[in-house]
Amino acid sequence: MSTLITNIGELVTNAALDDDPGRGPGPFAALAGAALVVEDGQIAWTGPAGQAPAADEAVDCGGRAVLPGFVDSHAHLVFAGERSAEFAARMAGTPYQAGGIRSTVAATRAAPDEVLRANLARLAREMVAQGTTTLECKSGYGLTVPDEARSVALAAEVTPEVTFLGAHVVPPEYQGDRAGYLDLVCGPMLKACAPHARWVDVFCERGAFDADEAAAVLAAGRAAGLLPRVHANQLGPGPGVQVAVAAGAASADHCTYLSDADVDALAASGAGSGTPGSGGPGSGGPWSGTVATLLPGVEFSTRQPYPDARRLLAAGVTVALATDCNPGSCFTSSMPLGVALAVREMRMTTQEAVWAATAGGARALRRTDVGHLAVGARADLTLLDAPSHTYLAYRPGVPLVRAVWRAGQREF
Ligand SMILES: [Zn+2]
Repeated sequence: MSTLITNIGELVTNAALDDDPGRGPGPFAALAGAALVVEDGQIAWTGPAGQAPAADEAVDCGGRAVLPGFVDSHAHLVFAGERSAEFAARMAGTPYQAGGIRSTVAATRAAPDEVLRANLARLAREMVAQGTTTLECKSGYGLTVPDEARSVALAAEVTPEVTFLGAHVVPPEYQGDRAGYLDLVCGPMLKACAPHARWVDVFCERGAFDADEAAAVLAAGRAAGLLPRVHANQLGPGPGVQVAVAAGAASADHCTYLSDADVDALAASGAGSGTPGSGGPGSGGPWSGTVATLLPGVEFSTRQPYPDARRLLAAGVTVALATDCNPGSCFTSSMPLGVALAVREMRMTTQEAVWAATAGGARALRRTDVGHLAVGARADLTLLDAPSHTYLAYRPGVPLVRAVWRAGQREF
């Protein structure tokens, strides 16, 4: 069964320059007046609409834009409860004493599996309806062995990109015994979670985990077969980025407060890796550097300064955009909002922002099959009700996603 998707006003492909899908996404690239053919869940052909081969069925896009599905490489979707009162107080500038993340931990621990599963499914559906076809999902609101284990198991029901984040914060019952909690995270908790997870993450920040603690968590995760990623430099300057690069992490996430040495380390991590013109000099093979994943929805929702995307891009760092969807600091599941904020608030071009939300996310997850639409890539497509990708920032807040296919299957 093959499907011709034609009369595409703008087809964003991010295809590698040599069109070798095994290397993953290339730089931003788009075709006008294009078509593509989907077969067996993959892209089988792309090119000018007038030259398209015949297929079993056809979809006419009416001159609208088609993008690779968004790759949301950072989300916390396994939780119960909500914190709208905390948000309202933060916006009003009034003090609020209700426990922050601890209230989510308490609600999550108290919730039956079905409540967590239903909440997760609702958020995952929300994401698809906004054009996201690959999502990462972290644990981190259980913080006991059984609660973390069920969090990663539930996440694995909706995505293969599951991240063990037992090192989110030290839970209340371990205040005064950090070493005891780290032993738990790196021992029985990791052992229980590793079978359901691909990634290990740590919140390396003042008030959470320091450089040595974070490095120990990542090393233990690696020994259990997990790949590292890090919450780094969100709230202030700190060692998170250096820990991430030293550990060979796929991504350092947030990157709001960076030193020159941090930027240099991120840039150097990608040298010799990936595809020309998109973060590395291109020695072949898939990307292996540390991506800077920016989460502008957090700064929007906390009224904090945005990361300096231009400084990172100027240094040659590979930049991804993700939502950080979570009930505390940023409760949006919208990649289009992230693109709009990146353009308006972080001065990324529309092309840079769309690349970061698709190909950049793929790199942050070390995926070569998504984030681009070269022949052989997974047929993850987002059809906009607009003629070009620019509309994602030009018409912020408007529901522009008209249809979504994942692996060739219509999902929205
Ligand atoms: Zn996060």
